[in-house]
Amino acid sequence: MSRKLLLEHAHIEGINGYETYRKHGGYRAVEKALKNMAPADVLEEVKKSGLRGRGGAGFPTGMKWSFLAKPEGVPRYLLCNADESEPGTFKDRYLMEKIPHLLVEGMILSAYALGANTSYIYIRGEYSWIVFILEKAISEAYAKGWLGNNILGSGFDCDLYVNPGAGAYICGEETALIESLEGKRGNPRIKPPFPAVKGLWQCPTVVNNVETLAAVVPIVNEGGDNYARIGVGRSTGTKLISAGGNINKPGVYEIELGLPMEEFIYSDDWCGGIKNGKRLKACVPGGSSVPILPHYLVTKTAAGENRLLSYESLADGGFESGSMLGSGGFIVYDEDQCVVRNTWNFTRFYHHESCGQCSPCREGTGWMEKVLERLENGKGKLSDMDLLVEVAKKIEGNTICPLGDAAAWPVASAIRHFRDEFEWHVREPEACMQRNYGLVKEKAEMA
Ligand code: SF4
Repeated sequence: MSRKLLLEHAHIEGINGYETYRKHGGYRAVEKALKNMAPADVLEEVKKSGLRGRGGAGFPTGMKWSFLAKPEGVPRYLLCNADESEPGTFKDRYLMEKIPHLLVEGMILSAYALGANTSYIYIRGEYSWIVFILEKAISEAYAKGWLGNNILGSGFDCDLYVNPGAGAYICGEETALIESLEGKRGNPRIKPPFPAVKGLWQCPTVVNNVETLAAVVPIVNEGGDNYARIGVGRSTGTKLISAGGNINKPGVYEIELGLPMEEFIYSDDWCGGIKNGKRLKACVPGGSSVPILPHYLVTKTAAGENRLLSYESLADGGFESGSMLGSGGFIVYDEDQCVVRNTWNFTRFYHHESCGQCSPCREGTGWMEKVLERLENGKGKLSDMDLLVEVAKKIEGNTICPLGDAAAWPVASAIRHFRDEFEWHVREPEACMQRNYGLVKEKAEMA
């Protein structure tokens, strides 16, 4: 089993409350930092750790923090992106539900390093019950003197608030999140300027994911160098993976980066193999927006290397034969899953969630949805696959925010690897529909 840095105590009864969290070493990192370390020392440890953003982009956290502008007399803000809405991803939800104080502690440390006296947790509207969990943890932290003015006599003031969103996926994009937090429609901004220069209320702002901020706690406790020894290459530390789809043991797992995909899927320590003894057909390893991997590229790369759960190994082969670690939403397809139907489903989501600012995204996602719908319903043409690839190409790289790419990649990769199955939907529509609707009926009867 891998080492656990974030979920080590997740199974302990009452760990979501202050006393139990404190009894198991909670707030030790804040004590250490505020009593013995300057803000620059905390930043240095994060840099040394090699921690990369756990929300999807994988950008080095220490480097992102060092971009923060520091003009005199202007406040800086730290925002936690808890707008976890990527289909297949539910690891931040688990962390916040189980160990809310770990996020609070990570945010105090990060705010200290950045010189931010006010921080917000922007949480997706559908996670309404977690708002109460976080608010309880925050009021406990205020009551015990971990938040508020002059924490531990250090002179550092830190206020923390929870702000629920209204349920828009696009507010997980950092500038849309900022717009929404300012009370406006969550439309992504054109960059530059980047939030590090002009973010919330036009002030320097850092936006980090829940898991990223929580990881600052073990980094300060154990030291950046020790954290960097876990993992493989530039993929350091541990990562939360939310595993779902046709596996025996769905759930949230903390892995050491570099774990072989084969072990993750088939070992009883993790996913426990494919459900009902069926064969693996494909895997979407990092949330619905990343390219799909067919079974022969799941456990091995095109070069024949073991495929690992790491940023580099998953990207090996580029978009021709690789994918991305993304948000860690790990979706496994068994041999009965219909790639056309699932791709249509993802595309429907992105079309619905497009904010509509850019034509390629607004129109392109709609056209892709329509074409996939007709393919799935037996009314497609053989030319539809080329049409879909063309539309996906027109979207990719031509939009204000990454939602456009997120909508294009699943479609382009599904056709690249499963063109035969798409063509089968045109050549034998009756057989496809019978198979798919038979499976839907079978699932409904089992439920
Ligand atoms: Fe909005 Fe889509 Fe453009 Fe992003 S890519 S700004 S979601 S229209």
